Amino acid sequence: MRVANLNGRLVLVEAEVAFDVATWSNGRFGPDPQGVFAHWDEFRRWAGTASEGSGPGVKIVDDDLGAPVPRPAQVFAIALNYRQHADELGYGLPASPATFTKFPACIAPPNGALELPSGMVDWEVEVVAVIGRHAHHVPAADAWSYIAGLTVGQDLSEREVQFRPPLPQFSLAKSFPGFGPIGPVLVTPDEFHDPDDLELSCTLNGETVQRSRTSDLIFPIPVLVEALSGIVPLLPGDLIFTGTPSGVGSGRKPPRYLVSGDVLVSAVEGIGTMSQVAIETRKDG
Ligand code: ZN
Repeated sequence: MRVANLNGRLVLVEAEVAFDVATWSNGRFGPDPQGVFAHWDEFRRWAGTASEGSGPGVKIVDDDLGAPVPRPAQVFAIALNYRQHADELGYGLPASPATFTKFPACIAPPNGALELPSGMVDWEVEVVAVIGRHAHHVPAADAWSYIAGLTVGQDLSEREVQFRPPLPQFSLAKSFPGFGPIGPVLVTPDEFHDPDDLELSCTLNGETVQRSRTSDLIFPIPVLVEALSGIVPLLPGDLIFTGTPSGVGSGRKPPRYLVSGDVLVSAVEGIGTMSQVAIETRKDG
């Protein structure tokens, strides 16, 4: 099953066509894309049996898509979760998931303009896992049943703030407006041949800068659920940005950062692509 946020309303997606859930379900499920996660298991059962009678669908226009999870209560993100990425930044392999948050106000639609607050904005394509059931002390073996689905994410990062003394400020540096685009759709785990082995990639102005597979994750998604839920209860609709592979701009010599006009395209196999166009921050007055 694939769901999306079309003009602020929850839709089921089949072959680029959207069906409005509130209309189709006669109000059993509301239109709010965030609200559905409180009833995710019930929604999945209904969606699995619902057919026809939905009226004609609407062809999806990319600019009408919002974040499929627009207002998560908690957003977890993992640093250094691919070996080559840990190498390019000069770190050793972590013994446990290195975790920070992206403040939820940074969550953004999958396509659109990205305002650059400085000349040190970097890209990080990631697979984002969405929690579908309250999860506390969940063992990795059971973890996939707590995942509503996967989506594409960009963990955009302002590197000056991130490493500003006296202590690194990962969470602030990765939470400027627009720094958490996700989408274009949320795909349930059963849709993938192997949800633990998906290709993810990122291009900058058509040049591939990142390409890897989630089978290279140091801590795979079920292990992240076990580790995080062992400390913090994970809530329906929470996000986990699972980490970025090698190829970020700050790992290059010399470093490369986004400049106005750059087109960043992020993709995950079986989910889709997102596109950001970098623009200079508007200076008011
Ligand atoms: Zn990241």
